[in-house]
Amino acid sequence: MVHQEIRQKFLDYFVAHGHTVVPSSSLVPSGDESVLLTTAGMQQFKPYMLGEADALTDFGNTRLTSIQKCFRTSDIDAVGDEHHHTFFEMLGNFSVGDPKDSDGVGAGYFKEEAIPLAWNFLTGELGLDPKRIHVSIFAGGEGIPKDWEAKKIWEREAPGIKIQQYGKEDNFWGPPATAGPCGPCSEIIYTLPSGLETELWNLVFMEYYKGERGKPAKSEAIRRARHNAKALGGYTKLKQKNIDTGMGLERLALILQEKETVFETDLFAPIIAEIDKIAKVDGRGDPRSLRIIADHIRGAVFLIADGVQPLNVGRGYVLRRILRRAILHGRLLDISGYFLLEPAKKVITLYREVYPELDKKEKEILAVVEEEEQKFGKTLNQGLKQLEKTLRGPQGKLVDAFVLYDTYGFPLELTKEIAQARGLTVNEKEFERKLEEQRERARSAQKEAKAASDEEIAPQHTAAHLLNAALRTVLGPQVHQAGQHLEVGRFRHDFTFGRKLTDEELKRAEALVNKKIKEDLPVVKAEVSLEEAKKLGAEAVFTEKYQGLEKVTLYHVGDPSTGSGQVFSKELCAGPHVAQTSELGRFEIIKEEAAGAGIRRIYARAIT
Ligand code: ATP
Ligand code: MG
Repeated sequence: MVHQEIRQKFLDYFVAHGHTVVPSSSLVPSGDESVLLTTAGMQQFKPYMLGEADALTDFGNTRLTSIQKCFRTSDIDAVGDEHHHTFFEMLGNFSVGDPKDSDGVGAGYFKEEAIPLAWNFLTGELGLDPKRIHVSIFAGGEGIPKDWEAKKIWEREAPGIKIQQYGKEDNFWGPPATAGPCGPCSEIIYTLPSGLETELWNLVFMEYYKGERGKPAKSEAIRRARHNAKALGGYTKLKQKNIDTGMGLERLALILQEKETVFETDLFAPIIAEIDKIAKVDGRGDPRSLRIIADHIRGAVFLIADGVQPLNVGRGYVLRRILRRAILHGRLLDISGYFLLEPAKKVITLYREVYPELDKKEKEILAVVEEEEQKFGKTLNQGLKQLEKTLRGPQGKLVDAFVLYDTYGFPLELTKEIAQARGLTVNEKEFERKLEEQRERARSAQKEAKAASDEEIAPQHTAAHLLNAALRTVLGPQVHQAGQHLEVGRFRHDFTFGRKLTDEELKRAEALVNKKIKEDLPVVKAEVSLEEAKKLGAEAVFTEKYQGLEKVTLYHVGDPSTGSGQVFSKELCAGPHVAQTSELGRFEIIKEEAAGAGIRRIYARAIT
């Protein structure tokens, strides 16, 4: 069964059982700052599961089904085995706030319905051999009881089926962030003819909420839930029961197409063949390297299509890391020149019908891949030489990951991986120390430049924060600051965005900043921990600059104590800033231009 057919069969089955199809959301989660990338199908339904939004209003149904694009950085190191990817497609069916049973107690669609639906799809609709399937259920733990109900339903639906029982670690799902909906789950595991057991489908019975202090509660229900959660060791019952399931499309294809690894399915074989052709290894290349390249280029294409750009921080760092790792594995296969474009084109060809965004952004995707490969390719050979030198050095010598990072652009993880393969270690503390030293130097240099006077620079600084917030309002939350330069009388602001801004967009951003100046909002400084800043959804380039710092400085434009509606901008920064926005006088955008692939630059000024 080809991949298009599998997707269609899945959706048709759940539509026939009363579900409504919801398109995949972006890999870049919108409005959810608690996760870097979308890792599961439930993510876009979180507000509905928490009862904060109404699925009936938004989708006309509480029973939903989707094929979600997912990306898991946590699985990067597993890529290369038979069944793990970074990017993959997750088939799911969901029940969010289904109307209650007539007795007003149980949910209309919960375990009783979800288990048979899954079982009948696999063994009935697809004809999988029930003898190759076993399941697991939650054994209980941390005050949450064992899932007797799921056990009973499985025994009734699939008499004689092997049922394993696991605790919190394995059979309790979520939340993907520090707080959120979660619950016991039941996994469906398939044993391949090779003997490999692969987890195919996870059914999550979402009926709990894991609480968390500090973050403002979005609704009264959560405030109350959190209050109760403290008494219950962190967990509380959600007011509604939800179903959340996820099945990897690639793993299902692996089973249905009777292959030994996901990389031989029709979702991957053409990409692997392309790389094989370039490496001229006639199928004899190290399969792990081939798989890593294929996985990473596929993931990169999808990330770029969703607006991610290679950067040294955040999502951009994930993209940069997988692209550079793919390039490195190309070297391991003895590919000498640039090679990623052809596999990238293959990915687009393979997926363009299912994911039209690849089609639409083809040019941009290829440009980003090409630029990153050229950038890294230039220093890669020198960097590898440098690395070899260290590796050949005195026994036990630690690899200087900082030089490789700073001079040759080797992501830390890449150096660690190469070193590990040689039985060497990277001194990560040393790396962090040097990185911090470098940042300190940069900070002092900036301070010196600013020495002119804080008073002179502060208005431009605050204006830059306002502009960043305005751009995010006008263009969308995927926009982030990517560099800044302040002078007396004007400033330069770089940000992530894939195309030229229209005049209308520029006018709107400018007008919005001027509106905030007129509102005369206070600029409020707060010292918070990095965790808190993240939870508050503060704008910043998180992963590196602030690592290891006890406290960071957060500037609010708008008074946070009057409720979050008042706050226009939240951004980590060292200042200086004005005390009230009216001090900016008037704001003007001077010009807008490109500043590298996926980065735009605005020159602007506050005219005090
Ligand atoms: P595993 O233990 O195999 O890593 P998981 O417990 O992380 O899986 P879930 O979080 O329950 O998986 O995700 C639901 C389904 O998504 C899995 O049953 C599997 O089919 C698929 N899946 C999860 N992670 C990956 C991955 N890295 N690559 C491909 N498919 C995956
Ligand atoms: Mg996993």
